[in-house]
Amino acid sequence: MTTPTFASLSAPAGGAAGSGAAERRPMLTLALSKGRIFEETLPLLAAAGIVVTEDPEKTRKLILATNQPDVRVVLVRATDVPTYVQHGGADLGVAGKDVLIEHAAENEGAGGLYQPLDLQIAKCRMSVAVRADFDYEAAVKQGSRIRVATKYVAVARQHFADKGVHVDLIKLYGSMELAPLTGLADAIVDLVSTGSTLKANKLVEVERIMEISSRLVVNQAALKLKRERIRTLIAAFAGAMNTTS
Ligand code: ATP
Ligand code: MG
Repeated sequence: MTTPTFASLSAPAGGAAGSGAAERRPMLTLALSKGRIFEETLPLLAAAGIVVTEDPEKTRKLILATNQPDVRVVLVRATDVPTYVQHGGADLGVAGKDVLIEHAAENEGAGGLYQPLDLQIAKCRMSVAVRADFDYEAAVKQGSRIRVATKYVAVARQHFADKGVHVDLIKLYGSMELAPLTGLADAIVDLVSTGSTLKANKLVEVERIMEISSRLVVNQAALKLKRERIRTLIAAFAGAMNTTS
């Protein structure tokens, strides 16, 4: 008599499980951040026949199953998405242009990350904002040194270098709006969509640096090994964008 084993229950998520194991395809892992990117990626996934079966706001799980046994979603911080995809912790991911520029600047170009598609989701802009009583134009004209607080140091450095403005950059990890209000900085470089956060903190947008949207990123090795599935996914995403925009 044989004792039943539960190997299939304890097998790693990417491993073989059950009797159909021989034909089962390798796991496809998609890295997403919670919030707007997750929400706005769902309709694109649906177009590819993929439905995430758990709500990230209601579970503490970091790996979410989908209706397809060989597709899963991993939840990571927005700034960690390129790192996961570049190093193969995920095959694909969705990341903002802001995050991708900073990641490339910190990782000598971030080789191994392929960006096949601008998904046109999580749209906003990168802007310079100051306190209403700070005369930004005058400071720029006079050639004053401006103290700029931001999470986006690569974008900010390039922007002010292009303008020939001398800046002291202060790196922050969040709540940039607070910096001008406390005297930490004269200006901030931050993401703006409606402008209501700036308004609530009595800041004014004085310069638009660039438009931002989120892109699909793909691990280059995965693109070779799982080519057909990834191509199918890219095609479905592209098709869904055309019908929703
Ligand atoms: P975390 O909250 O984990 O610190 P984060 O604040 O960068 O990270 P989100 O606020 O979820 O993460 O933003 C994720 C991405 O969405 C950003 O990288 C950017 O591309 C985009 N984004 C950020 N703010 C806005 C906005 N106000 N409107 C539209 N898109 C935005
Ligand atoms: Mg946030």
